[in-house]
Amino acid sequence: MEYQNVKGTHDVILKEANDYKYIVDLMSEVVSLFDYHLFHVPVIENANLFQRGVGASSDIVRKEMYTFLDKGERLISLRPEFTASIIRSFNNNKLYATMDLPIKAYYHGPVFRYERPQLGRYRQFDQFGIEILGTDSLYFDAEAIILGYTILKQFNLEDVTLKINSLGDETSRNNYRHALKDYFKNHIDNMCNDCKSRYELNPLRILDCKIKEDQEILKSAPKIYDYLTKESKERFEHIKEILDENHIPYEVDDNLVRGLDYYSQIVFEFHYTSKKGFNYGAIGAGGHYSNLINELGGPKDMQGVGFSFGVERLYSILKDDDLLLDEQYLLDVYVASIDEEANLSAFNVSNLLRINGLKVDCDYIFHKPGNAIKIAIRKKARYLIFIGLDEINNNVLTVKDLSNQEQTQVKYEDLINYFYDKLGFDHKHIEEE
Ligand code: AMP
Repeated sequence: MEYQNVKGTHDVILKEANDYKYIVDLMSEVVSLFDYHLFHVPVIENANLFQRGVGASSDIVRKEMYTFLDKGERLISLRPEFTASIIRSFNNNKLYATMDLPIKAYYHGPVFRYERPQLGRYRQFDQFGIEILGTDSLYFDAEAIILGYTILKQFNLEDVTLKINSLGDETSRNNYRHALKDYFKNHIDNMCNDCKSRYELNPLRILDCKIKEDQEILKSAPKIYDYLTKESKERFEHIKEILDENHIPYEVDDNLVRGLDYYSQIVFEFHYTSKKGFNYGAIGAGGHYSNLINELGGPKDMQGVGFSFGVERLYSILKDDDLLLDEQYLLDVYVASIDEEANLSAFNVSNLLRINGLKVDCDYIFHKPGNAIKIAIRKKARYLIFIGLDEINNNVLTVKDLSNQEQTQVKYEDLINYFYDKLGFDHKHIEEE
């Protein structure tokens, strides 16, 4: 019987796994420059964390959570996003009581949503993101946006579209909700079922509808900007000024409301269409939250901002646009025994090179020299070492430089120095056998 992976999941293996690592490592490096610190939080949480955190009217909580009773009858969910977990950790560990707020966290790992699988949409996918916790300063909203933009620039993605909008404060949103209900009252009967339930639960989410006929109706809907309170408007304008000052291009999209219920004030999304013309949807998205920390048991008036990137989507556009690392060499040395009696020597030499910091492979069986060359090239090795009986008897190794096919004999005791010179390593760390 052949076992299939679960629908909506996928294996990330071999070259693709290296590419994922490259993506996560580069993002980790960039956020470290901005002084963010890694948070590891559990994949499982009590279900009510997300019901409260992500919001009862969100699609995620209504339709997409993987929730089950564990053997102790606890209602558990696989995390559908990180923000609620990071805030739970911030609250549980009383990080809000530290002197140096805000806490700047970053995270990465798998999240789970029972969505319809399609291009760029999985049921298990990886997110990488940040949260800035314990500040209401608009400068941190701007920092989050600029950090997201900087990450994409580091991957050499040109033409990133940054969309921003403001959802304002509670008063702004209440006023706008009323205006939307008023407007949609005469249209809602002719709109899709999702819009009908959003009309009751959260009319702002109607603006997210992708159905063509509904979008026509959306065109004449009231715009949130006109309902922002004076303070919310000023806050939004100020952030835009900071983005302008820092030469970050953006578009204001008044239909951008985001699918998670906790946002207030600024929200943003990063979009990109690959050169092949594929648009994988938002690659990353986030926003400010005014009440979420308090709603999840933390102190009042503690605010935050964060964003999350989808690693699968980032991978797809980098692959489409040929922007993934294509390393010329994956190994420093491939060691080949060319005589059965040289297998042990090949093992020992491989080990000696590895403990001295070289990246080395050897398969511990003997090969004909021609085959060994083919394997070394397939493995993208920079150098190939042949070891046969001649080499053992003369206490030398035959080293082939695969970049120019030059072959030379190196004395066994000179081997490490030889490679350190060739590869530009520092000689301080040579380990004796
Ligand atoms: P969200 O948590 O919904 O704001 O999503 C943040 C990012 O996660 C999105 O911009 C996408 O890049 C990615 N993402 C969301 N849902 C999926 C999915 N089902 N499959 C793959 N990536 C996703």
